Amino acid sequence: MTKIIAIANQKGGVGKTTTAINLAACLGILEKKILLVDFDPQANGSSGVGVDEKAIEHSVYDCIINGTDPNKVILTTECPNLDVLPSHIDLVGAELELANVDNREFQLKECLAKITKVYDYIFIDCLPSLGLLTVNALTAAHSVLIPIQCEIYSLEGLSKLKNTLRQVQKGLNLNLKIEGIILSMYDKRLRLGKMVVEEVRGHSKDYVFETIIHRNSKIGEAPSMRVPVSMYDVASKGSINFFNLAQEFLKLNEPVNKTEETKVA
Ligand code: ADP
Ligand code: MG
Repeated sequence: MTKIIAIANQKGGVGKTTTAINLAACLGILEKKILLVDFDPQANGSSGVGVDEKAIEHSVYDCIINGTDPNKVILTTECPNLDVLPSHIDLVGAELELANVDNREFQLKECLAKITKVYDYIFIDCLPSLGLLTVNALTAAHSVLIPIQCEIYSLEGLSKLKNTLRQVQKGLNLNLKIEGIILSMYDKRLRLGKMVVEEVRGHSKDYVFETIIHRNSKIGEAPSMRVPVSMYDVASKGSINFFNLAQEFLKLNEPVNKTEETKVA
């Protein structure tokens, strides 16, 4: 069965898109069939896996607003086993356009249900808001993955996000689970980063991934080359962090056929 995972946090710049691109790419390299749904009008997820936004004819916007067949919109990428349902700046208007549509919260779910290619995992890169588009992503998903930046105030938005999750669980998606929290942009030189890690680990009842994503210049540079960090500099700390995250993710999701442990220090 395909597992659908929304990557959400209403704060911008916490590492949602970076996690979506790089976790998806690493799982693809580990031979899982992956679809990345770029659900942010900024389309950084699409360009980050090599899509030229100016050259695309249709996007996820057309799928949810005009009922366009997603099978005709999905693109293959240069990354092994990774396809993308690209986004477009048009998606900015979608929240308003959806406001009066019947079943407005279910438009992405209905779109994903039409996909005929079989994927192991579908990741939805959400925009930084808790509006109708994010609600569509949470309604379509089996679980939500929450990146948190290792900085002060980073926990502030968490209770708001959890409120939204509870509302979605009540009315729209009874089975929505929290996949886990990912600590991102960790800087070992900053005491504050260590404090945030301890605070999240100490107080959160949710699963907090053991793997921490460090702040790493290669992670920041890779999007300008339109590739995941694993294809930009495979030996970099950032690339190793995301391979370890992918291994941990697989261990949690596929405990029966435990993948060989290849953790690198
Ligand atoms: P979001 O999708 O939550 O808005 P992004 O993933 O786009 O956040 O990250 C914001 C910016 O920080 C981007 O320019 C990205 O390249 C950079 N960035 C994210 N994670 C890291 C990291 N671990 N190390 C260095 N730069 C990072
Ligand atoms: Mg983003």
